[in-house]
Amino acid sequence: MSTIGFIGLGNMGAPMAANLAKAGEKVFGFDLVPTAREAAVRDGVEIAAGARQAVADADVVITMLPAGEHVTAVWTDVLPAAKKGALFIDCSTIDVASARAAHGLAAKRGVAALDAPVSGGVGGARAATLTFMVGGAEEAFGRGKPLFERMGKRVVHCGEAGNGQVAKICNNMILGVSMIAVSEAFVLGEKLGLSHKALFDVASVSSGQCWSLTSYCPVPGPVPTSPANNDYKPGFAAALMLKDLKLAREAARSTGTETVLGAHAAQIYEAFAQQGHAADDFSAIIKLVRAHAHRA
Ligand code: NAD
Repeated sequence: MSTIGFIGLGNMGAPMAANLAKAGEKVFGFDLVPTAREAAVRDGVEIAAGARQAVADADVVITMLPAGEHVTAVWTDVLPAAKKGALFIDCSTIDVASARAAHGLAAKRGVAALDAPVSGGVGGARAATLTFMVGGAEEAFGRGKPLFERMGKRVVHCGEAGNGQVAKICNNMILGVSMIAVSEAFVLGEKLGLSHKALFDVASVSSGQCWSLTSYCPVPGPVPTSPANNDYKPGFAAALMLKDLKLAREAARSTGTETVLGAHAAQIYEAFAQQGHAADDFSAIIKLVRAHAHRA
């Protein structure tokens, strides 16, 4: 059993902390929001008086926060309170530069660190089926792995500091672009009189197949579990897809990489969010594609 300090008990952090507690770890949690703290207590998490108190006895500290500035601020605040030999793990999705800066903060204090963003959403966090993409030294990875396995199903060591975040934004750039591509194909098929079923039956076993089509189809019918069958309730909200596409765009700019389709996908999701669809599942982007098709 390890003692874990868990900071950020929101939609993702709460069920992740709960799964650690359920597995017998001693979890001291903290969140700025009182209702998040109260809910965590019901899940077996002990609430600390503050972030520093949550890490004071911890062998492992996990953060699950909204963005890079929160992670570097919290790590700066709590690192001096951490035990010698503690391992710091950030599971948030943040920009690569902040992730690497957080590793630097930990290194300055002689503390091992990992960036370990996840995919699988709130459902995966609850069911402990998340995928962890991990950046950091081999030795630190070996220490973190048993905890990742308590919160998830798949764990991939992606290499050095920050590479977990790199893998996450590259993967989600593929996802954002491919969802738009699949949506465009269905809308073009509609215009030409092709049924959704016929296109699905062909593309799902042909070279057009991809996760956006076969697991998360943006039209109702072919994949009964996709959010399209549930009025596009998330799932994975368009706002979160936009966040990840913006992180990819920022990383592309900072490295002088041309990601034409990734950048265009960010613009399309931005327009969609501005039209009031930020809380819809990201596969609802087909509505915007269809609206543009009818305008043309
Ligand atoms: P959330 O907003 O529900 O939770 C974040 C929590 O952090 C909030 O409860 C907030 O009060 C707390 N917080 C912020 N600053 C704090 C501080 N200084 N000290 C203590 N607590 C603080 O967000 P979420 O959906 O849980 O997502 C967390 C991270 O996981 C984000 O980076 C997100 O991009 C990523 N992510 C989310 C999903 C998803 O489906 N929700 C999927 C994959 C990755």
